Amino acid sequence: MQYISTRGQSPQLGFSDILLGGLMQDGGLSLPAEYPQVTDAELTAMRSMSYAELAFTILSKFATDIPADDLRALTARTYTEQVYCNGRPDSDAKQITPLRRLENNLYLQELSNGPTLAFKDMAMQLLGNLFEYVLTKRGEEINILGATSGDTGSAAEYAMRGKRGVRVFMLSPRENMSAFQRAQMYSLQDANIFNIAVRGMFDDAQDIVKAVSNDLDFKAQHKIGAVNSINWGRVAAQVIYYFKGYLSATTSNDQEVSFAVPSGNFGNICAGHIARMMGLPIRKLILATNENNVLDEFFRTGAYKPRKTADVKVTSSPSMDISKASNFERFIFDLVGRDPKVVADLWKAVDSGGYFDLAATPYWARMEEFGFVSGSSSHADRLATIRRVYKDYGLMIDTHTADGIKVALEHRDADTPTIVLETALPAKFEETIIEALGEKPWRPESMRNIEALPQRVEVMEVDVQAVKDFVKQHTA
Ligand SMILES: *Cc1c(COP(=O)(O)O)cnc(C)c1O
Repeated sequence: MQYISTRGQSPQLGFSDILLGGLMQDGGLSLPAEYPQVTDAELTAMRSMSYAELAFTILSKFATDIPADDLRALTARTYTEQVYCNGRPDSDAKQITPLRRLENNLYLQELSNGPTLAFKDMAMQLLGNLFEYVLTKRGEEINILGATSGDTGSAAEYAMRGKRGVRVFMLSPRENMSAFQRAQMYSLQDANIFNIAVRGMFDDAQDIVKAVSNDLDFKAQHKIGAVNSINWGRVAAQVIYYFKGYLSATTSNDQEVSFAVPSGNFGNICAGHIARMMGLPIRKLILATNENNVLDEFFRTGAYKPRKTADVKVTSSPSMDISKASNFERFIFDLVGRDPKVVADLWKAVDSGGYFDLAATPYWARMEEFGFVSGSSSHADRLATIRRVYKDYGLMIDTHTADGIKVALEHRDADTPTIVLETALPAKFEETIIEALGEKPWRPESMRNIEALPQRVEVMEVDVQAVKDFVKQHTA
């Protein structure tokens, strides 16, 4: 399997090559030259597979440059009951992403039972093992530099801790994370994990990472890499749980399901789109946003209008607070018939601070083929949904998952199973749960006292040179 760029000006690359890179050379995103297809017989065979076997079967279509035996061992090591054991006491850890029935034709797929209690573990744990494998094979090292507002940083650190050839330098805003999120990251004592708390906001941290990555000499000399949401390995890993959800909710391949997905950077639902392009019988992809509704606006009107960072609203589903959706270009590439010239033109406008509107183009008429619908939520909607789900189903959900359920209820068809993807456990966003329900959410035993553990973090001003010096010092 070869990978092409959405902007058409980069040489084709193999899976292992794009795994360690970020953007393609021409500034585009990587995608398979063509989507592998899943036959009816393959789908039937998948019905009796464990999650790890399913992961191997799907990934072997994407990672054709990794020998089958190695890939099988890698997926078996990644998707274990021991790693995904942090779910609610009544969760079935053996399923890895257990499906919970809420009512007739309405399900919740648990994706947040991994080490950091958010769905990002599903992909990041695999990435940790893939990185170690590819780097060891090549005798190389990588220094991952990233900025996080909470979930991505902790998922990356828990996935990369102790991995050979990998160091992580993670910048976070000192004041703007929950005490729980801070404790999750800063309590890690592994020698290859470095937390840097900047005296600023998430955007300041992000700007530092961009500035360091734009210094191409520094980047090459210090082998700087990234694991952000555009990483193809993460998208590919997320395709697996759409298959698992489908197989868990159906008994025969002529049935369809719909998925509802709390969305920010369009990474999670992009994997759903790819699963659908591979032939998985998905009727609707229901995209849910919060008040930062850039994507909802596009799917309702055809206009994609990224916001200025100053216009991003701070919400109670903070992992969806985005100004633009970094994976969205992958979908638009397919929508415009995979014409890289069209994509490059559209993003010329976006990258210079503008927008594009497809409403009056022939592409908009093709939207129906792709099954997308969308909606958005407010803080009041989240509180109401959390209360309703607790009252009706006896289940506490987090704020992001609440956005997914709210929009799912607006768009579901009575006769199609609708699966809402759970993107975090409520323990991560305790304050809003207390506001909604007046009680604290459940926490796994191992995290009961996490805020009291000793913390290892370097506090810095918003200063690019200081971060470079720190990286230099710790990679020598
Ligand atoms: C990252 C995240 C999202 C958004 O996912 P995207 O892939 O960026 O669309 C939603 N909910 C939670 C809890 C997250 O951590």
